[in-house]
Amino acid sequence: MSTLKKETKLYGICGSPGFCIGKAYLVDKEGVDVIEKYYIRENDVASEINRFKLAVQNSAGELAKIIKNIPEEFQENTHILEAQMALYKDKMLYDKTINLIEKECVNAEWALKKIIEKAKAMFESISDPYLKGRGADIVHISDKIIQNLVGFKNENISEINKRVILIAKDLSPAETSQIQLERIKGFVTDLGGKASHTGIIARSLGIPAVIGIENATKEIKNDDIIIVDGKSGTVIINPSDETIIKYERLNLKYTKYQAVITRKSYIPAKTKDGHIFKIMGNIELPEEIVSVLDHGGDGIGLYRTEFLYLSRKDFPDEDELFEQYKDVAELMSPKPVTIRTLDINGDKALIHHLPEQKEINPALGLRAIRFCYKKPKIFLTQLKAILRASAYGNIRILFPMISNYNELVFAKQSLNDAKKSLKVFNIDYDKNIKIGIMIEVPSAVIIAEHLADLVDFFSIGTNDLIQYSLAIDRGNSEVAYLFEPLHPAIIKMLTHITDIRKKKKIEVHMCGEMAADPINLPILLGLNFDELSMSPQSIPIIKNYITQLSVKKAKRLIDKVLQKKTSEDIKELIMKEYGNLLTTNGIFND
Ligand code: PEP
Ligand code: MG
Repeated sequence: MSTLKKETKLYGICGSPGFCIGKAYLVDKEGVDVIEKYYIRENDVASEINRFKLAVQNSAGELAKIIKNIPEEFQENTHILEAQMALYKDKMLYDKTINLIEKECVNAEWALKKIIEKAKAMFESISDPYLKGRGADIVHISDKIIQNLVGFKNENISEINKRVILIAKDLSPAETSQIQLERIKGFVTDLGGKASHTGIIARSLGIPAVIGIENATKEIKNDDIIIVDGKSGTVIINPSDETIIKYERLNLKYTKYQAVITRKSYIPAKTKDGHIFKIMGNIELPEEIVSVLDHGGDGIGLYRTEFLYLSRKDFPDEDELFEQYKDVAELMSPKPVTIRTLDINGDKALIHHLPEQKEINPALGLRAIRFCYKKPKIFLTQLKAILRASAYGNIRILFPMISNYNELVFAKQSLNDAKKSLKVFNIDYDKNIKIGIMIEVPSAVIIAEHLADLVDFFSIGTNDLIQYSLAIDRGNSEVAYLFEPLHPAIIKMLTHITDIRKKKKIEVHMCGEMAADPINLPILLGLNFDELSMSPQSIPIIKNYITQLSVKKAKRLIDKVLQKKTSEDIKELIMKEYGNLLTTNGIFND
């Protein structure tokens, strides 16, 4: 594998740990960046114009197909796409491009690009947000035309059949979940932050990933040999022979370490002073159950049900959902399965759900329980399916993104409606089904005392709680350095919630990524969480650490942590007290 090219390193965010070495394969989701200019003979101008017209026609045809496939209930929203459709015949874009081809005898894609650059500059100078949005539409459709002109095809991730490392500008959660494990060794993206779903899914798939590199798709070329070091968040292009040997050794060591701790992971996570913690798995799709069981999970702490809805054109019906949930409940039984109701939108947008107005801040928009409030029928269908499945195992229901008391009242009322409609048909369900809410919005932390009266458990979603409390977009690599689970504000919120646990006698779980990072573990044990839930791959590591810790010592740590002013101070304190343990377990050291 020796190469004469220079070894180069790119740094990003650890998406998923592990190492892989292989050939790069670029999936250009963004279209075509580099457009060549060339001149054509005067005799060829007419055929160049025809080539342009054909590309416009094909692009419009593709859009028409998309509009046609939008499910009936969303037909009312097709006007956005229909407006885009009209732009294909827009004078500014269509006629002016043809004029430029004629006038300068240049290729069609170059002419279109020039026209769009001018239009873009004009729209950018407008302050009206609606008109600005039309500028984005023009760029979008011109990209489509250019893709058609240069014969670019959007890659379907699920069809890639080479043993490669994917390099992409971004992968949506839906795309990431379609990755074929036996073919894709790992992946690297330009975009993505510390808690973005792309990384979360990579971790549950167990493939190494580095995200948020910014210039990966520019620096890495197709067929380059690269190393993905998901542990340190580094990608090495054209590695030297020594680097390859070093990483092969590291990979071997990491695989061995994983194998040893996975063998022990079926044993309960019992601390040195006898406290047992339930370590659960987070899943996105029913297939991941096997991984949770193989990695010694004590149940499912978070089943992100929205993934079934993401990569399809319609909403699943009650029977389809019931079959899926029933399978999961039966396979895990008697272990618990926590089914979270739809947490759609935010960074998990439905491909077929087009909001009436493009949301400027989707993370603060019509997401999760708010979406269900707007679409009660879809919510009811899901609730009925969950209830029916509860007759076949140990199911618990978890409501996401609760930000006020009324939302929880609505969710519980909907659940009652679902129960009533099953009763009418004498359909069996678990009458004692446990209900919980995600604590992931700061307002829910503050009113947790009241919310606790209505539920059996809280599950802290630190991915969003950190995003909303510290004002850090969880998917943005630029501010990833601020995404800090050990921020004193976050620790204080966790302390507040676990105090309520004692007062109200409800269970407190954590299912955000914070639970999977060993450095946070002494704090989580000290606060006495009942359950920690994480990507299946992380379960053995966390269980292994727990057996080496004591709750008594961890409780003493909390008092000291609460005095600290910065996350750096807190980290330093943890490393001072637990550094030896954390660095001798193969996670922190090479
Ligand atoms: C969270 O927000 O921490 C969480 C577990 O939910 P999700 O990552 O699906 O938003
Ligand atoms: Mg969340």
